[in-house]
Amino acid sequence: MKQGIHPDYKNTTITCACGAVYETKSVKENLKVDICSKCHPFFTGKQKFVDAGGRVDKFKKKFNLG
Ligand SMILES: [Zn+2]
Repeated sequence: MKQGIHPDYKNTTITCACGAVYETKSVKENLKVDICSKCHPFFTGKQKFVDAGGRVDKFKKKFNLG
């Protein structure tokens, strides 16, 4: 069989900025992401991703959060 052409995958975790943790296999260990399927607007369907930044800023200003 073909051997030696595949990366050395190992069990690891992906940690998202929202706190979600996923177990997966990867050539890298302890991956960190800013956004995932749990908090990404594309998956949540709350709003368009391109608008997220500005709307969050307005939200924070409105409620004095930042
Ligand atoms: Zn997330």
